[in-house]
Amino acid sequence: MAGILVYVEQKDGAPKKSSLEALGEGARLAKALGAPLGAVVIGPGAAAAAAVAARRGPAKVLVVEGPAAAAFRPASYGRAVAAAARALDATVVLMGASAQGRDLAPAAAARLGTSPVSDCTGASVEGGKVAWTRPVYAGKALARVVNGGPVTVASLRPNAFEPGPEGTAGAVEAFDPGIPEGDLLVVVKEVMAAAAKRVDLTEADIIVSGGRGLKGPEHFGLVEGLAAALGGVVGASRAVVDAGWRPHAEQVGQTGKTVSPKLYVALGISGAIQHLAGMTSSRCIVAVNKDADAPIFKVADYGIVGDVFEVVPALTKAVLAAKGGG
Ligand code: FAD
Repeated sequence: MAGILVYVEQKDGAPKKSSLEALGEGARLAKALGAPLGAVVIGPGAAAAAAVAARRGPAKVLVVEGPAAAAFRPASYGRAVAAAARALDATVVLMGASAQGRDLAPAAAARLGTSPVSDCTGASVEGGKVAWTRPVYAGKALARVVNGGPVTVASLRPNAFEPGPEGTAGAVEAFDPGIPEGDLLVVVKEVMAAAAKRVDLTEADIIVSGGRGLKGPEHFGLVEGLAAALGGVVGASRAVVDAGWRPHAEQVGQTGKTVSPKLYVALGISGAIQHLAGMTSSRCIVAVNKDADAPIFKVADYGIVGDVFEVVPALTKAVLAAKGGG
């Protein structure tokens, strides 16, 4: 029976949250299709991450290590994922639509003779095939995609799927995908760590974003304060990133990050279509804007028409009080 393969992205031996979600969805689809679930983990730390992944449903986890897998390169990792899919006879390949997954899915798909279904937010089994749901036109519409070919490679939007429960560990095996050392087109010379260690926006459960309504970078303490009170991270609109108030890593939207947190709070953000493209799949959206006609209110679950300089300190105080800290 053709199976499902999940590519488990990892860092320093720990699988990424988006990969645990891909394993959860992989296990659910495997059950619905009556197909076996496998996984592949690549790079330094793969063995440790494989031990964690093995408890999340796969019957077999393949571990790829060695010099050719020492750093992420879409071409070599794509080869490895495709080889693993062939070895496990997988016709559905899943991975998180993280920055790495967005790079890797097309490379793996090309090796398997198909095109990827990117950034999926839902999946169901219909007539023995997986039907994928993915937002299109900057989130204005949802497309349902069923791959007509024999193999499907899909990337799953972080936070859109549930990680599965832990269970009995599957088998972990070393795997040599035969990546030729000589034909590497790209050589990674150095991986620079971000100055501050912070939660990746795409994996955050709570995001508090600020826009031009904050009037200047010196007022982002308000955004940071509410984010800290809620246990979330800070995001930003492009207007404030372009103005140099915040780093690009915090930008949410069409030319920034696509996020799906449980809670997205937009402070002084108008809700331009390019911003909405990156956050409308958030589970609960709260907006504070002094303009009652701001487009952000069209997508907000809760809206406060008011001045951020009055509303945000009161909100932060209320959150801290509710948590027993203020
Ligand atoms: P503004 O549009 O200036 O809105 C500020 C809001 O703050 C207003 O609604 C105002 O009513 C409110 N406000 C002002 N003062 C207060 C106050 N005291 N209290 C409460 N509310 C107040 N944008 C993105 O965000 N992400 C992207 O990835 C992105 N990609 C783009 C790609 C392209 C190709 C293009 C053309 C544009 C892109 N944009 C993107 C830009 C986008 O079109 C908007 O210009 C941008 O999102 C506006 O940011 P903003 O909401 O912070 O600012």
